[in-house]
Amino acid sequence: MRVLVVVASKFFRQVLQRHLAFLAYPASYCGSLEAALKRIQQGDIDLICLEGTLPDGRGLELPQRLRERPDLPAPPCLLLTSSPDNALIEEARHAGIQQVFAKRDIEALADHIAQREGEALASRHLKGHALVVEDSPTVAKLFEGMLRHLGLTAESCPRAEEALTLIQRRPLSLLVTDVQLAGAMSGLELVQAVRQLKHRNARVPILAVSGLNEQARKIALLRNGANDFISKPVDEEEFAARVSNMLHLAYLLQEAEAQREQLRRMAMTDPLTGLYNRYYLGDIAAQRVPEAFRHGLPVSVLMLDLDHFKNINDTHGHPVGDLVLTETGALLQRLCQSGEIAARIGGEEFVLLLINRDAGKARYFAETLRSELEALRPGGLAVTASIGIGSIERGGVTDFTTLAKAADDAVYAAKAGGRNRVEVKLLPSNPA
Ligand code: GH3
Ligand code: MG
Ligand code: MG
Ligand code: MG
Repeated sequence: MRVLVVVASKFFRQVLQRHLAFLAYPASYCGSLEAALKRIQQGDIDLICLEGTLPDGRGLELPQRLRERPDLPAPPCLLLTSSPDNALIEEARHAGIQQVFAKRDIEALADHIAQREGEALASRHLKGHALVVEDSPTVAKLFEGMLRHLGLTAESCPRAEEALTLIQRRPLSLLVTDVQLAGAMSGLELVQAVRQLKHRNARVPILAVSGLNEQARKIALLRNGANDFISKPVDEEEFAARVSNMLHLAYLLQEAEAQREQLRRMAMTDPLTGLYNRYYLGDIAAQRVPEAFRHGLPVSVLMLDLDHFKNINDTHGHPVGDLVLTETGALLQRLCQSGEIAARIGGEEFVLLLINRDAGKARYFAETLRSELEALRPGGLAVTASIGIGSIERGGVTDFTTLAKAADDAVYAAKAGGRNRVEVKLLPSNPA
């Protein structure tokens, strides 16, 4: 939604800029009625916010000025004033202002605009395909017409059995079902069946329709997974309002899920290398390590620390250091087998959780890694690493922290032994 803010004071403009920062399109600003008319003429303004007093007139005069210019669009106007008394509110309404807000309550204005933006977004999401399950062809045509009017595409069928097949054929945005249908299955049974499908449409918003205004039936429908209910004869406006509410909610839910998924991914990965981070490593190791012991598998934890990495930063700059880290991370990822966990746990320190690799196999793997890193020349530089392995044979039991500590000790030994080498510390299988 594009908002035009018409305010004279620079300070007030800054206050508004802060409060309206959430808008998907940044608001446009101007300082007079004349400038506002010019901006409106350029088009695409959806909402106008006016200050009460402007250099060339009162804010509430804008709707009138717009009426005098039939060539211009007339977006809804909101008025911001220092003293919104009843007389002024009345005058503003007469002048064609939709709502008046107090300057000291900018949050109320921001909330109002946020809500409008949400609604605008929702109406933009009134699209997709709807299926109408209705045994009366006349009523079915009526529903299809109303849905098309709202911006959806629609098809209909008279039986629930047929609907179940259609539902699994293409993504649906909405299912409208009558309660009494032509076939053996009722609308209620259809709702239950849809919710049990192993298909993405199992979660499609469902609007149930019935001529019988029975309370118990409505409750049963809602309890069994219908999202909303409407009685016949259907009022077109009520139908439109219910459908757009349902689609808006479905959209918000999808957004929230996408955001949650993004947060989940962000919480488990290291942004520089895309490897897992130390938090995720801790969580996953707490599951995988005991599981490995239950299956009698050996476990190794490999820790890799780049040698003299500080020198790389100091000599070539931090961005080159970052590139070395990214390329090293990609090498680790490439060499890991599926199911093996590669994590960056700190600046230039990496950990691999190697389930079912005993000390010998882990050492072999580490030697490969060490020589591949030398050959790789990440960032175009000669880079080496010291690698430590903490390992326990099959039949042994320990926890990840102990293995990681052993790997850390082994790294220390590798550094002390001259760097660019692998050291292994084997934990006793049966600690005395
Ligand atoms: P050693 O061979 O003993 O391991 O020496 P080192 O220089 O590799 O180890 P040290 O721990 O002294 O230095 C690590 C350096 O890693 C210091 C720090 O500035 C740098 N570092 C940490 N995180 C990042 C990062 O994200 N990007 C870059 N470019 N450098 C980082
Ligand atoms: Mg019917
Ligand atoms: Mg280090
Ligand atoms: Mg280092």
